Amino acid sequence: AAKTKGKNRYHCFDSQIEKHIIQREQRLDRIQKAIRAGELVLYYQPKVNMATGEVIGLEALVRWLHPEHGLLPPGDFLPLIEGHSLSIELGDWVIAQALEQLDHWYKQGLELSVSVNVSNMQLEHDRFVEKLRTQLGYYNNLPNSLLQLEILETGALENTNFVSATMNECRQMGLQFALDDFGTAYSSLSHLKKLPAAYLKIDRGFVKDILVDADDRAILEGVISLANAFQMKLIAEGIESVEHGTALLQLGCQLAQGYAIARPMPAADIAEWLRTWKQPAAWRQATVSTAK
Ligand code: C2E
Ligand code: MG
Ligand code: MG
Ligand code: MG
Repeated sequence: AAKTKGKNRYHCFDSQIEKHIIQREQRLDRIQKAIRAGELVLYYQPKVNMATGEVIGLEALVRWLHPEHGLLPPGDFLPLIEGHSLSIELGDWVIAQALEQLDHWYKQGLELSVSVNVSNMQLEHDRFVEKLRTQLGYYNNLPNSLLQLEILETGALENTNFVSATMNECRQMGLQFALDDFGTAYSSLSHLKKLPAAYLKIDRGFVKDILVDADDRAILEGVISLANAFQMKLIAEGIESVEHGTALLQLGCQLAQGYAIARPMPAADIAEWLRTWKQPAAWRQATVSTAK
């Protein structure tokens, strides 16, 4: 009897794993189908200089326009494909799509820069540079400098020599880099020195409590001097209120992105947003008073 029981237990265990594997396969198939059927869309979120009111660029953020579940954020499907070859396929699609949009705006006379998020797997893929070169080659008139690549601090720190070589090749093509979610990994300053990124994006986790938390303000001040020391430009993420922006300006950080400026939006809404956006008066005043 014990033997049968044991056998059953194994059987049960096996079938659960099997169920899991099948479920995962089905989800991956569904995402692959979504990429190929054109169900993914890029939304764009503006980045501005709070001190001058100038729009410095847009970040492309992927969404899944699911026929049954509606608009899904990347957190609902990117984790499922992390480390899987589908993340390369998705990444290629994102770059192709962003370039097509960039070229479209450029031809209309909108000289906007667009940044795309590049996953660690994508960045470490041996054909990354070659594929990028091919994709850029389709747009002869478009300045490559309008495309920016946002790479995760974790990715940049894992394989520093390979990654910095890749970054240098891209830079030779005119592309610029931003280190995304800065501050969330164990960054080593000696590694940071090897990474030719023009921008540091400080994670919104450090920004959200600056109005109430003196420690977070101190961390921000540290990151601002770090960025200055490395001659990198700092972009603060997650500016959810005008007051957050004002506080950042007072600390010396001018570039920002967040809901208080604009939420990510479809490409078709960008021109209208550019026409109507105004720098908040408080930011103008904060800039004048810190300049004195
Ligand atoms: P991220 O690159 O750090 O992008 C910023 C995220 O913060 C976006 O979330 C944006 O919508 C959100 N955000 C912007 N301003 C605010 C704010 O004021 N408050 C709050 N609470 N959130 C704000 P989203 O679009 O859900 O993307 C999440 C993450 O998914 C991105 O973080 C990025 O790591 C990843 N991701 C998005 N698109 C792509 C892509 O095309 N490829 C890859 N590899 N990753 C992507
Ligand atoms: Mg990003
Ligand atoms: Mg980020
Ligand atoms: Mg983030």
